[in-house]
Order: sequence, then C-alpha cells, then structure tokens
Amino acid sequence: MEGLSRRRLVGLSAALPLLGQLSWAAPAAAAAAPGPSPVRLNYNESPFGPSAAAQAAMHQGVAGCGRYPYPLQYQLIEVFARQQGVDEDQVQVFCGSKLALQNAVHAFTGPRSLVVPEPSYETPAQTAQARGTKVHSVPLNAQQAHDVDAMLAIDPKPGLIYLCNPNNPTGSMTPTADIERLLRKAPADSVVVVDEAYIHFSDAPSCIPLVKTHANLLVLRTFSKLYGMAGARVGLAVGQAPLLEALETFDGYNVAAEPSLRGALASLEDASLVARRKQGNQQRRDATVTRLSRAGWRCTASQANCFMVDVRRPAEAIVAALKGQQVLVGRVWPSWPTWIRVSVGDEAQMRRFEDAFFRVLG
Ligand code: PLP
Repeated sequence: MEGLSRRRLVGLSAALPLLGQLSWAAPAAAAAAPGPSPVRLNYNESPFGPSAAAQAAMHQGVAGCGRYPYPLQYQLIEVFARQQGVDEDQVQVFCGSKLALQNAVHAFTGPRSLVVPEPSYETPAQTAQARGTKVHSVPLNAQQAHDVDAMLAIDPKPGLIYLCNPNNPTGSMTPTADIERLLRKAPADSVVVVDEAYIHFSDAPSCIPLVKTHANLLVLRTFSKLYGMAGARVGLAVGQAPLLEALETFDGYNVAAEPSLRGALASLEDASLVARRKQGNQQRRDATVTRLSRAGWRCTASQANCFMVDVRRPAEAIVAALKGQQVLVGRVWPSWPTWIRVSVGDEAQMRRFEDAFFRVLG
C-alpha cells in the first residue's frame, strides 16, 4: 500500500466495484468513528482467527523469515498428502487458493471457454472476462445445487468447468453423485476444478480421492475459512502432477511466508480443530437460520460458514441499511438481486446481526 494515497485508494475503489467492497479500501475515518466496532460478516472469515496452536507456531516462524521457506512448503505438502492419501507430487502450495484458481483459468482457458455455476464465487469468471475469454454461467437448479447436466451441455469442449462445493455464496451442496457424473462425462481434456474452500464445514465427502483416477481434476483447499487464516494466504491445489505444473508456470515458486506455513501445519496437526469449529459454526448458523425462517424469511440450505436470505426487495439497500447499524454483510449477486449473503460469526455477532436485521426489515 506504500505510495498509494487515501484519495487514490478511494478513487480506485469507486472505479472497481469489487475493490469498493473490501474493508481495507474504506476510508480509515470510518473505522475510527465512535460507537461499537462493526460486526464483520462480509467475507466468510472465521470470527476466531488462527487456533491457539497455529498462532504459537506462527510466532515461531517469524525468526525464519530471512530465508525462503521451501523446507516448510515441502513439509506442509508431505503432511497434507499423507493425511489425504495422495502422492506428494499431487499437492502444491499457493499464496491462497484464489491464486491457484486464477492460475487455472490462465492455464486452461483462453481459446476455450470457462463454465461456472451462477451464483457462485466470482473469481474464475472475473479472471476469464478480464482476458476476453468466453464465460458460460449456468444457474443453480431448484435444489440450489450445480446443474451439472446443463453445465456439460452448454459447451461440448470447454477449457475449464468450475464447481464450488459447498457453494459460495449460497452454502448449498451439490451431491457427490452429480460431481462424479460430470467427471465421467466431461471431455478428458477439459479441466474440472472442484473448489472445496468450505468443505470442512459440511458433511460431504471430499473429491480429493478422485484425483487418482481423473487426470483432468483439480481440487482446491484453503486455510482461510475454518482454519481462520485468511490473512496468512495459504491455499493448496491437489491434482495430478502435469496439471499442477501447468498452474505453477504462472507464479513460479512464490510461496507463503514461514509463519503462514507453520500456522497451516499446526492447523493440520490439531486433530480436533475441524470437528470443534464445524460443530460451533453449524449451531450458530442453524440457530440464526431457524429464527429468520420462523419469522418468514427464506434462507438457503447452507453447509458452509455463510448463507443467503431473500429480503424480497433490492438487497443493496438492505446491505447499506445494515451497515448503518454497524453490521457488515456480504455483497449482492446480480443474478439474485433480492438476496444478501451473511457470514457466520460468533454468538454475540449473530445476535447483533439478528437485532439489526429485524430493526431494518421489521
Ligand atoms: N474459493 C472460494 C469459494 C472462496 O469463497 C474464497 C474466498 O472467499 C476463495 C476460494 C479464496 O480463498 P483464499 O483466501 O485461499 O485465496
């Protein structure tokens, strides 16, 4: 951020709609305003941050920052590969799974199209559109799952098909049988990305075991969500070696810092962390969804740390009204213009969200 004046930042945020929604792009004056600090339920982050063990490990990593952290990168790969039962050359570390995803779009689309569900995580479509690549958006089906048959039918030879399970922003699931059918039917030279950023919160089986039998499958994982390390930038791509090599050509060995890698390792080695955080997230999410539903508000069937609510009016105005109540919720997807996305916070944050929601919407 050095050398970027606040005026320029605000100018930039006006020019780029997505940047305008990033909290670091907001004028610092807003953060300094008197009153309670805003409840941040807008980026699907963990309200708890890195676990205690991860934080201790991260502190330990600071002293090592004078060296490139390749040994820790390999250690993280080794531990993850062992836990997941894949080969070490089938795992690669990236500075966040978003980077792996962007690299996949660069590597496998261009002349060939990208197929995405709608609504879903926008990064792949935005990356493709920025380079003039054709994007096919396929609406979720009535169960809010990916319509895999429509995704297969829309282009007989796409470069990349993107699946997000559980899906961001809805939190909804696509049955494993549907994903397997898509993998069976997709052209062998079309790459299928299954983004499992939120899989830890769900009961679904991972697609990672399928990389052994599908040379065109890439599965993405992140430490940003359940593990609470969004700011530490660690993500993983899992797939057969030629696919990973194609991704790596775009950011050649630019790996996360040693504290981040140590935090990721400590998170993987904490045997009860996933179950603990998954259960708490489920309780708080379902309690809020139940209260909203009982009051007549339709919510998505989420198995993630976010869900959507149909506010039955232009949702942008509700996002702004909630912000006025010091509650920040997620952005609005143009294809679902009356729905807001709410990330699951801690208990006090969910109470503040509910109070503000009912004050704003009655
Ligand atoms: N994939 C999905 C579905 C996401 O929602 C996000 C972040 O919100 C990412 C990937 C990016 O995660 P990371 O922080 O690992 O780059």
